Amino acid sequence: MVCEILCVGTELLLGDIVNTDGAFIAREMAAMGFSSYHQTTVGDNPGRLREALRLALSRSDVVIMTGGLGPTCDDITKNAAAEAFGRKLIFDEATREDIARFFEKIGRPMTENNLSQCWIPEGAAVFYNKWGTAPGIGIEGEIDGEKKYAVLLPGPPAECEPMFMECAKPWLARLSGDVIRSKNLHLYGIGESAAEAILRPLMESSVNPTVAPYACEHEVRIRVTARAGSVEEAERMCAETAAKIRETDVGPTVYAETDDPFSAKNAMVTTLISELRRRGWTFATAESCTAGMIGSSVGDIPGASDVFAGGIISYANEVKENVLGVPREVLKTVGAVSEPCAAAMAEGARRVCGSDIAVSVTGIAGPGGGTPEKPVGTVCFGVSTAAGTYTETRHFNGKNDRAKIRRLTTAHAMYLAIRTMRGEI
Ligand code: ATP
Ligand code: MG
Repeated sequence: MVCEILCVGTELLLGDIVNTDGAFIAREMAAMGFSSYHQTTVGDNPGRLREALRLALSRSDVVIMTGGLGPTCDDITKNAAAEAFGRKLIFDEATREDIARFFEKIGRPMTENNLSQCWIPEGAAVFYNKWGTAPGIGIEGEIDGEKKYAVLLPGPPAECEPMFMECAKPWLARLSGDVIRSKNLHLYGIGESAAEAILRPLMESSVNPTVAPYACEHEVRIRVTARAGSVEEAERMCAETAAKIRETDVGPTVYAETDDPFSAKNAMVTTLISELRRRGWTFATAESCTAGMIGSSVGDIPGASDVFAGGIISYANEVKENVLGVPREVLKTVGAVSEPCAAAMAEGARRVCGSDIAVSVTGIAGPGGGTPEKPVGTVCFGVSTAAGTYTETRHFNGKNDRAKIRRLTTAHAMYLAIRTMRGEI
């Protein structure tokens, strides 16, 4: 099925806001297996919106509209959609009650203009908005002898995104009797364009499952999406394509596979935790430039206490020396941002926390503090286990973006711990 996203809002056209609703819905629709050939943005102008919607419905089966549903505008989206499907707007008492309840919950009086949101195209499905007031709407009907569908969602992303997931997605999923399953392959140490160049033949030849890359900050994610008559069949198809991807030159960079959104979003840390659990090992950190970010990421995962012993934020040299036992000589001669220091920090953290493995990071996050030998973005890593200590130095090209350098450092430290446990370094 072909879908099209139609975003309504003059502020989008003027560049005042970025169209994050469009990007979010596009990703989700692609993952559900819908084809998408056009995406349109139109201002708050009834005539042009009507025209854009007519065109979208003529060339696509499903049109997802965002924005222009609130009480402050003239409800142009709803009017345009009702007109396109030849429906009257009728007052929906259940919606009025929902909106009244919402205002009661937030303790504010409901104003008269909110009643405009209770007018719903006849026969449409109403999606209750738990996050705001304007309900979402699903309309299906025949236009020029063809079955067409439209979904209307409010513009604010805090309403649009959860409403898409909770209301629109189930409503759309029933359009095809098929089930859709996805698998993500997580690649580390390769850029998006390099991965895409290698996978292009596979991407171009794969219609079902589809293969699509997504660049994240520290990794590239390849999403494989299969559509089939049963869950087992869709999962088998995903696994087969994932195996094909692993046979290409990107294979060695694949460090994890995930199939649910939470693990996909947190693949590095969830992989770290599962590698620790598999071995019954505990983990500790000694963090300088990340100041606790690695520990915090591990703590974000429910049940981390099974494997996480603790960590030391050793920002000052005194803490590196007095708590972790970094030799003063090291700090004086090669300095805190050095592999000998990183090694001593990791060993110290393993000893102090009594863990099986410990990682350390010490670097220059910037924007100040860089030197020609150790520019901003230079980070030394250490990994200590009973078998010995590994160190390496990285130069992150974070364009002096302190926050980004610290996030990249956090991911890389976890990656080194994973590789150490797997015996890859
Ligand atoms: P409201 O009830 O808030 O009026 P609405 O459905 O009428 O919702 P709009 O008035 O079009 O939506 O937009 C409300 C706000 O939502 C905009 O000011 C903007 O901040 C945000 N917004 C709208 N469309 C988008 C979009 N496509 N991407 C990101 N943000 C958006
Ligand atoms: Mg509005």
